[in-house]
Amino acid sequence: LETAMHVPEGIDTQCPFCSVQCKMTVHAGEETLAGVVRAVHRAEGKPNAASQGRLCVKGMNAHQHALHAERLLRPLMRKAGRLVPVTWKEALDAVADSFSSTLSAQGPDAIGIYGGGSLTNETAYLLGKFARVAVGTRYIDYNGRFCMSAAASASSKVFGIDRGLTCRLADIPLAQCIVLAGTNIAECQPTLMPYFHQAKENGAYIIVIDPRATPTAAIADLHVQIRPGTDATLANAMMKVMVDEGLVNEDFIRKRTNGYEQLLTHLNRMDFSESAARCGIEPEVIRQAARAFGTVDTGIVFTARGVEQHTDGHMAVRAFMNLVLATGKIGREGCGYGTITGQGNGQGGREHGQKADQLPGYRSIENKADRDYVASVWGIKPNRLPGKGVSAYEMMELVHQGEIQTLFVMGSNPVVSSPNARMVEEGLKKLNLLVVADMFLTETAQMADIVLPVTSHLENTGTMTNLEGRVLLREAARSAPGEARDDWRILCQIAVRLDKVGYFTYKDAEHIFEELRLASRGGLADYYGITYTRLRHEGGVYWPCPSPDEAGTDVMFRESFALPHQKGVFTVVESRSAGEHTSEDYPLVLTNGRVLAHYLTGVQTRRSSSLTAREIENFVEIHPRTAQRWHIRDGEWVEITSPRGSFTVRSRIKPHIREDTIFVPMHWGGVQNVNRATRPDLDPFCRMPGFKTAAVRIRPLHLS
Ligand code: SF4
Repeated sequence: LETAMHVPEGIDTQCPFCSVQCKMTVHAGEETLAGVVRAVHRAEGKPNAASQGRLCVKGMNAHQHALHAERLLRPLMRKAGRLVPVTWKEALDAVADSFSSTLSAQGPDAIGIYGGGSLTNETAYLLGKFARVAVGTRYIDYNGRFCMSAAASASSKVFGIDRGLTCRLADIPLAQCIVLAGTNIAECQPTLMPYFHQAKENGAYIIVIDPRATPTAAIADLHVQIRPGTDATLANAMMKVMVDEGLVNEDFIRKRTNGYEQLLTHLNRMDFSESAARCGIEPEVIRQAARAFGTVDTGIVFTARGVEQHTDGHMAVRAFMNLVLATGKIGREGCGYGTITGQGNGQGGREHGQKADQLPGYRSIENKADRDYVASVWGIKPNRLPGKGVSAYEMMELVHQGEIQTLFVMGSNPVVSSPNARMVEEGLKKLNLLVVADMFLTETAQMADIVLPVTSHLENTGTMTNLEGRVLLREAARSAPGEARDDWRILCQIAVRLDKVGYFTYKDAEHIFEELRLASRGGLADYYGITYTRLRHEGGVYWPCPSPDEAGTDVMFRESFALPHQKGVFTVVESRSAGEHTSEDYPLVLTNGRVLAHYLTGVQTRRSSSLTAREIENFVEIHPRTAQRWHIRDGEWVEITSPRGSFTVRSRIKPHIREDTIFVPMHWGGVQNVNRATRPDLDPFCRMPGFKTAAVRIRPLHLS
């Protein structure tokens, strides 16, 4: 075990946390403490085009979880109520036997496949193929549904294609005004901050929209501290100011957009003062923001989960896209729209088929030509491809209702990350078979019947696509510990046992990527021109890249948008609050997010001693006057309750949050899990749950 948990000196790898995908070198060494020699490791940034050699504290310690003693080294099976080690043969035979029985007895749709946005492109692609070809189920979706599905669907509707950033990171310093809506980059993607500092040095005006005065808001020229769930109203109000004061780009609107007249009619009916009141801010703040963005030549609007994780997330993003189109700030240097993707492969993970409605290259599972093409690449008849499934949370509802009886989870922890977590936990207990492939015994894996140990970022090879749409190759840097296996290999080994050997004969990750290139060819996310050889030589390549002779597309939409009429589309967005209605019983708005030291449900970062030392337990951030009103002292345990359930965290009294709002991070499970209280209501367009607003009450527990 000791040997397995060391690394060779000077290995090159890539941070698995967050969408920047910083490159690094991990150095191995030794230190002696009280006469005991122990291995120590140190990471340093390695220059690449995105991170420029920087690392944040998560990246500096990303090797720690991979070398952690709790890594799963052998498959586990539940026997007499306990998970015990078994051979790979026994575990995989058991998975395949159970799948086969379910397929014969209940049919393929009794099996659900649940993926993740941190998987490599190769695994995400293969998971989609595994679901459709090896199992034949329509029920596949992934945790990215909870991440940026609102922005992804909005980009597709407004621009015709969903690439996280329509521009490059290098455009940020060229922007004269930057809107950061619902994104806390300083904690979530810290190595991006120097781009914004550079923009400020160049004179840029930065607007941060957030109910909290986050570390990101500290660099703002204007902090718009809105009430959670009112982003669409704010963007509409900014749009109205820009129209009323003649700050729009008439030429761009005429030549490159559709739908402006309808938007004007809608804005004319809008009550500006009422909008400001709904947002909980002064009207003058909205005017200031609109003028700052409307009066300059270059600018970028970024959104993230603060705008997107709402029941109106799709439309709220489109309201912000209106600002970009109206001012012609897209398709040229220093301009654009971007969603700040959260997960390590949030971008690539949503492009190649692990979504309910999607085939590789952003092809649609409901489009005949798309089905025919992908079926031909996979060597099957198109009618063997199942139809559209349901979103991640809806899959959990089907589990709860007993329609899905077998669930295969790869690289995700839905017991902690799903809203209404108690319902999810109850549902998983009803399954005939729960299989989890992970590095650790996560909260979900603890409930599994079979647990399959997978390799970490240090040990597997594959591509990741960062938030700019730049494809990066991360090569294995050490051998797998114990009996851990690459996730793609596990999928192939189950497929073979399901008699699908001919479709899953890959020798390595590059072999899968070669098929992915072909499957994505001619699609919106076209990777055909990208090869491992190019990635090794060039460092990274932007998609779309339809030919190996082309450089890839850095700035999108220079001449036209990707819709049939080639125009960008304005959207009429209703100004209403997406927040859950507060009441006497549930008087406060609960919102959630990340902290600097942790990633997603904390499965990895909570197993890093350096990161855990920074944040060891969950907390609630609460305004001093709110705390006083509910008799809460700083640092004491409190119970927070919504109509879905309760959780317990320690209080942190801070003046930088709105008085009507409390904030809880999302990285802890069990009794500290904020998702015991979050809302399962879904956005009608993208099926994003309304994570960011739940009506709650709070009470001190006086335990400390
Ligand atoms: Fe870079 Fe993100 Fe990793 Fe930090 S967490 S080192 S910003 S990839």
